[in-house]
Amino acid sequence: MEVIINNTRLSIIQGDITKQTTDAIVNAANPSLMGGGGVDGAIHQAGGLAILEECKQIVAKQGRLPPGKAVITTGGNLKAKYVIHTVGPVWHGGSRNEAELLASAYYECLKVATENKLTSISFPSISTGAYGYPVAEAARIALRTVVSFLKEQATSIKEVVFVLFDSRTYESYLSALREATGSLKT
Ligand code: ADP
Repeated sequence: MEVIINNTRLSIIQGDITKQTTDAIVNAANPSLMGGGGVDGAIHQAGGLAILEECKQIVAKQGRLPPGKAVITTGGNLKAKYVIHTVGPVWHGGSRNEAELLASAYYECLKVATENKLTSISFPSISTGAYGYPVAEAARIALRTVVSFLKEQATSIKEVVFVLFDSRTYESYLSALREATGSLKT
């Protein structure tokens, strides 16, 4: 499914984010930026050591990456030229600012992509794996944040793709996209 918002195409697919050819892919990292499991492990595995080297330099310079923030590195051996690393919130039941931090993670990635004049970006489902965020609610926040960024901010981004690994997550994002764009004529 895809929609157009202010000249930017927003689409949702099921697949492996490491195979995407967008300018940047987003990594659901952890604050150490040293790699890990899930999508983080897959990106470092496919992208090679150049990504980890840049992550180490970033942490040496500015410390660990707090939830809701984002930084950019090379894409190493990936087809994507860049990886934008962000940290989503760990789900603790919803009363520890999880929704704001998740929205901020998406927003900061779009901001970093815009600052670097990128034209396309792919997102995974941040926080809904090891970090335990309920998928339906995370999908709503993800879509709402991206749609309002595209409506409100001037950006170089012409294409945003959500790349969901499994069918259940994919279905949740489809519903959330319908909900988020219900009032848009596309
Ligand atoms: P977090 O720690 O932020 O929860 P995870 O990597 O554990 O991050 O999970 C986030 C989502 O990424 C999950 O839906 C998981 O199934 C998905 N995922 C894992 N590998 C890939 C991949 N190669 N491409 C896209 N999504 C992936």
